[in-house]
Amino acid sequence: MARVIGAVCRLCRAEGVKLFLKGTRCYSAKCAVDKKATPPGQQGKRRSFGMSDYKTQLREKQKARRISGLMEKQFRLYFEKADQKKGLTGENLLRLLEMRLDNVAYRLGFSTSRTGARQLVAHGGVLVNSKKVDIPSYIVKVGDKVTVSEKRKGNSAVQEGQKVAAERGLPSWLELNKDSLVGSITKLPDRSELSYPVNEQLIVELYSK
Ligand code: SF4
Repeated sequence: MARVIGAVCRLCRAEGVKLFLKGTRCYSAKCAVDKKATPPGQQGKRRSFGMSDYKTQLREKQKARRISGLMEKQFRLYFEKADQKKGLTGENLLRLLEMRLDNVAYRLGFSTSRTGARQLVAHGGVLVNSKKVDIPSYIVKVGDKVTVSEKRKGNSAVQEGQKVAAERGLPSWLELNKDSLVGSITKLPDRSELSYPVNEQLIVELYSK
């Protein structure tokens, strides 16, 4: 995961949207975007004026990259993979990011944030089809069953993640048995089910230059 030094809320304010980088705080009245709509810094208010096409495309890419928590090089590799697939490159890119195991663990509510979900996976706390998978970038497939290891099921972080996920709602391409905490991937998410508030076409344009 890309390490973000300093206040991550500044990243949201810079992009002007909630990137959901801080777990429960993102869903509370303390969220910096909800409290203050302008970008950080004295120049914040002027930033959106006169943005070149390049800057607009760059911002969109940065937004997606920050949500996914990837370094530039890793993000670019996802783009190249997406470009080799059939269909729309931008949508393929977001689908690849969405179907990473750490993101699926987050969406299933095994943690309150993607960062937390990534740590949970990396520490061996997530099973796919009953086998431990400690690779956050692992791409799940339709039909896979994803769950939390027995040892971690009672963890307060997992319980808190369940509460937040219940408020957020489960995407329609996932199912979850709330008692056993077994999640299933029921279909490939279509664009409307991908949780990235970005214009992916601008990312395609940026990388196609
Ligand atoms: Fe972003 Fe969450 Fe901070 Fe709100 S609380 S600004 S969504 S990281």
